[in-house]
Amino acid sequence: MKFLRFGPGDEHVLKCQEARKNLSELLEETPLLTPDLLHHIQRHLEACPPCGAFMDTLKATVRTLQSMPSQQVPESLRRALRSPPNDGR
Ligand SMILES: [Zn+2]
Repeated sequence: MKFLRFGPGDEHVLKCQEARKNLSELLEETPLLTPDLLHHIQRHLEACPPCGAFMDTLKATVRTLQSMPSQQVPESLRRALRSPPNDGR
């Protein structure tokens, strides 16, 4: 009886921890991940319901943050952004 052997491509099967570590990158417009890794993470999400649910939560959180009014920006930060750059020559 033969043992099941993983092909070379399967060595990259991600663990949940590794997948979740990179989930936030998936939400970026330009993910800093290789297309190969992106593909594996997406595959993992499809195959792993807990991670899929985690991704949904993450997406919802990001959407909430983006929909927050800009008044939530601290006054000190807004003042810093508004003050002209100090290179007046
Ligand atoms: Zn998982």
